[in-house]
Parts: sequence; structure tokens; C-alpha cells
Amino acid sequence: GKCVLVCPTNALAIPNQPSKPKEELDPEAGSKFNLKDPLPEAVKDYAQDNDKKTIPAQVTPVAGGDVWSGVWVIIEYTNGKVAPVSWELLGEGRKLADAIGCGLSGVITGNEIDSVIPEAFAYGAEKVYVVDHPILKDYRTEPYAEAITSLVRKYQPEIILMGATSMGRDVFPAIATKLQTGLTADCTVLGIDPETKLLQQTRPAFGGNIMATILCRTSRPQMSTVRPRVMAMPERIDGREGELIREEFTFDESDFHTKILEFIGSDAKSAFLDKAEIIVAVGLGLAAKKNLAIAEELADVLGGTIAGTRGAVEAGWLTHDQQVGQSGVTVRPKVYIAIGISGAIQHLVGMETSDFIIAINNDPEASILKVANFGIVGDLFQIVPAMTAEFKKRLQ
Ligand code: FAD
Repeated sequence: GKCVLVCPTNALAIPNQPSKPKEELDPEAGSKFNLKDPLPEAVKDYAQDNDKKTIPAQVTPVAGGDVWSGVWVIIEYTNGKVAPVSWELLGEGRKLADAIGCGLSGVITGNEIDSVIPEAFAYGAEKVYVVDHPILKDYRTEPYAEAITSLVRKYQPEIILMGATSMGRDVFPAIATKLQTGLTADCTVLGIDPETKLLQQTRPAFGGNIMATILCRTSRPQMSTVRPRVMAMPERIDGREGELIREEFTFDESDFHTKILEFIGSDAKSAFLDKAEIIVAVGLGLAAKKNLAIAEELADVLGGTIAGTRGAVEAGWLTHDQQVGQSGVTVRPKVYIAIGISGAIQHLVGMETSDFIIAINNDPEASILKVANFGIVGDLFQIVPAMTAEFKKRLQ
């Protein structure tokens, strides 16, 4: 009962009980259930009923129909900046909209956000929906989910996309829950099935060993979050115009459970890892935390950012926000220098689209050398200081 009361997306219910408005729920009801007690009969029935549910074999696709139509990109605007993945997705959204034969729109939520509108048109949105309200000044799950959900209910787009950033990973599941539709998180490839016009959402699965293509056949909208820097940045055409639709946001503070008290920014050099142009990445080949200094020296000379493998993070040499790969950040720098990294698939998926990869490894069979543009087989403790010295000479 307690959880039902506070769930921000109304995702919870006590099964086989008549649904009641929140005000009528008993906040003490939760105390009647103890996890150690046997399952109440109502819950058992519910579990059995759900076991019997099967996915219908034939579903009439509704994509491209009159009701749910259009591709939307949610434009992420925080602390005065747009997350560049939003523009990447307008580029990708254009291709999807052309394949379906529908329109492409951008959605901006926040406060005092008018400066972003011309940019959204410049990157290809035909329509821009704006919800501008002081409550939306700083990101919070509930008001953002509420604002976007009400827009979706009103205008019924068939596809909505957002970056798989911290915000996208947080707000999209909340919206999908409110709308009772499917969401594929962390996609790396999107496409349209030419026959059904359904969105094909592809992402690494099973530890990165397969690429799974997922369809959302029975509910709308089809929702995906997409990894930053995987899709190409579209051309920006300043001065391009489109239709602007402003929507009212009628909620007030008392409708929401959370308040922003203070922002404490990260001072880690890695804070903008996904935007870094030169990355010096380390792996377990470095052998000890104290040896990080040789990579840092190289990064300093090149103006690069330090990152690494999950191995290096788990060893306590780096923080999680410095981890590149499937369960870390996806990067696409101009230069990626991999030092003592084996090149496990889970690491490669996060960096193999870098423009130029230099790998240093003493094992000539290491997988990282197969994706490297320039591989150096040898001892990193000799090679990296030699590179640093050479770059110092040339760059001074
Ligand atoms: P190792 O595989 O141990 O490689 C060390 C390399 O250093 C070796 O190739 C060795 O030849 C070389 N070396 C050793 N000494 C020297 C020397 N003196 N000079 C030169 N070279 C030397 N990993 C990630 O990185 N990112 C992720 O997001 C991620 N997510 C994961 C998610 C799941 C579900 C799972 C199961 C795993 C994930 N992993 C991830 C872990 C991944 O599978 C690998 O274990 C990890 O990437 C290996 O890290 P490494 O390359 O630092 O270490």
C-alpha cells in the first residue's frame, strides 16, 4: 500500500483488489504484507493468470496508420545546454520518418527554452512542441514524465526517441510505464521494416554477444533510447523554419514528490567523456594504480581525457563514469589510445566507432589490435613513455 501511494508513475497495484483513488488508499496497508510470509492467495492467482498469458501470434500492425503517426525526438536541455545526441536523433529520425512517410518533430521541455527552438528546426524538425514552465527548470522525473506523457496522449506519435543519457534512461521508462507501451533501451541501430513499417530497434544483448532486434508490435508509441555518438550528426541548416506548437503545463509543486535542493557538479575530468576528442584509455595491462601516471602524462600532453575498461574500474583505478563500453559510456573521439586493453566485445561496442584507434598491447593476438588503425605490439611501460616524450617534442 505504501509503495502504491508514492509510485511516481502509478505503475503499482495490489492485484485482484478494486482500484481506489490514491487518497483512499491506506498508507498502513503495506505493513500487512511481510516478505517472509507465504504469498497471499490474491497474489498467487495473479501470478498464475499471468503465466497463462501468451503473446498473440498475429497482430495487425498499426504503424503508419492515421491514429498514431509521426516520429518525435525528445530534445534534452539541461543547465543551458542541449545534449548533442538530441541532434543526432533528429538526423536518424529523418531517415525513419522518410521510410514510413510521416513527419518529424522535436519536443523541448524546460524553462526559458526559446533559444533552442531555432536549433531544433535547423537540425531538421518540421514541427517543434514546447512545454515551458518554471517547474520544469531543473530536471526531475515526475514533472518531465508528466509533461511528455500528456503531449504524447494528445498528439499520438508512433515513434518517440531520446538519448540513452542519464535523463533518457530515467524519464523514458517512467513515460513507457504511464503509457503502458514498450521501450527498448540503449539502441545502437534503428530501422523500419519495409513491409510492416514497424520500428526495428537493435541493441547488444546477452553480454554483447548478440545484436537483438526488437519490435514493439502491439502498443504505441514505439519508444527507444539511443546511445549518444552512435548516430551521425545531421547537417545544420540555420534559418530553416517549421511549425511551433506551445502547450500549457498546468501542474504545480504540490503534485510532485521531489524537490531539487542543490546541484553538486562532478569535478571529474571524465564528466564529458562522451564528448572528448582524444581519449587515453587504460586496461588491466597497467598492472597497478600507481602506473596510471604514465597514461595521465600522455593525456596531458595531448589534451586528452583518461578513461578505461571495466577491469580498470573494478580494480579501483578509475571511477565508473570513466568506464567505456557496454555497461559504461559509448565514445566516438577523433583519437582513442588503448593501453593494455585486451579488446573484449563489451569494451569494443563502446569505442570501435572512434575515428582513429591506436592500441598498445604485448599480445599480438589481442582483439583490440584487430579494430585498431595503428597497433603497437610491445611493453606499454616502454612504449607509452616513449610516445609521451615524442609528442612533447613535436607539440612544443
Ligand atoms: P584484460 O582482458 O585482462 O586485458 C589486459 C590486456 O593487457 C591483455 O590484452 C594483455 O595482453 C595486456 N597487457 C598486459 N601487460 C601488458 C604490458 N606490459 N604491455 C602491454 N600490454 C599488456 N568491459 C569494459 O571495458 N567495459 C564495459 O562496459 C564492460 N561491460 C561488461 C558487461 C558485462 C555484462 C560483462 C560480462 C563484462 C563487461 N566488461 C566490460 C568486461 C569485459 O568482458 C572484460 O573483462 C574487460 O573489458 C577486460 O578489461 P581489460 O582489457 O582491462 O583486461
